[in-house]
Amino acid sequence: MSSDRRSEARVGLASTFRPLIDDRGQRIRRLRPADLKRAARSENPRLALLANRLRAAMKSEGRRYTPDRVILTLLLVVGVFVAYGIIGGLMIGRMGVAGSLIGLTVFIALVVVASKGYQIYVVRGALGQTARTAVAEGVCGSCAFSLEGTPADADGAVTCPECGAAWNADRIVAPFWSRPAMPVLRASVLAWLAPGVRAASALFAPDDRGRYVPCPDSRLLRVRRDLIGEIPADERQELVRSMRRVGRWWRVGLMLLLSWMPAGMLYFAWRIWTEDPMAGVWFFLILALPVLVGVLMVPLSSAFGGPHRTARVAVRHGRCGSCLERLDDAPADDRGRAVCTRCGAAWLTGPATRAAS
Ligand SMILES: [Zn+2]
Ligand SMILES: [Zn+2]
Repeated sequence: MSSDRRSEARVGLASTFRPLIDDRGQRIRRLRPADLKRAARSENPRLALLANRLRAAMKSEGRRYTPDRVILTLLLVVGVFVAYGIIGGLMIGRMGVAGSLIGLTVFIALVVVASKGYQIYVVRGALGQTARTAVAEGVCGSCAFSLEGTPADADGAVTCPECGAAWNADRIVAPFWSRPAMPVLRASVLAWLAPGVRAASALFAPDDRGRYVPCPDSRLLRVRRDLIGEIPADERQELVRSMRRVGRWWRVGLMLLLSWMPAGMLYFAWRIWTEDPMAGVWFFLILALPVLVGVLMVPLSSAFGGPHRTARVAVRHGRCGSCLERLDDAPADDRGRAVCTRCGAAWLTGPATRAAS
């Protein structure tokens, strides 16, 4: 793979269209959703669990915004509206009311096609990382077959018995058959109620080797209690404060950007109230108030501060971005990444480290 130390954790235009290569430099085919579905049906419960984790990781990835994805989203939105404007306009011009119904159908079809296309783009771009995650946990990154019991060749690479893709044996840090990926997150009722805490299945982000690992939420409410308990209370507070700081001004900006909605509804509520006080109160309670609360909650959410960024904060504080173990004594891998002794996640530490996106 590329010599850039950070390249393995990066997704973008290049990762979407560049051919995928294995550790011997041969082109390999990308993992297909069908491969993961097959693995998820495996008789080995640990392999099935791993396959489901990989699928969750792909879903998490879809919520992350990288520059190429933001641009693509904007292009798709503009494209859908322009296409709808042209087609809808023509239809109404020729067929009147019937034409407007056809136009609406066309609009829905355009939205479906655009969102499907976006999803394919995201998943394809992240498949390099998905492949490395699969290998880290002991299945082939090209076909999802188990590498259990396959010995390494003389060059230190394991050749997949099914498809022939080669993977460096030292990538296999948490083989599902002997040392399955460490559970980092837990189910928690409090976490469901607290704003800004995502579901555990939405908290996957790639480490600096491009392996999807579960990452803490910014309030540390989803992290297993025993892992949290090891961190001194003042350090824990500092960690949460730093994590909440990430993206804070973006969230405030988003709130201000959206504030016209509750403002408009409050104005309408007032207008209705002057005519009919009872109707005004109902309008306020049922429509304006929920929108107002929703918009005011935006700064409390975790928008712009997803798992890939909270992981980075933990690393900056000298802790593993996944399980929060201290990285002081962590051994370095071939590219100088600190490999967590507890969970096997690999992180670029030091002042030069910047969020890989
Ligand atoms: Zn294979
Ligand atoms: Zn760790």
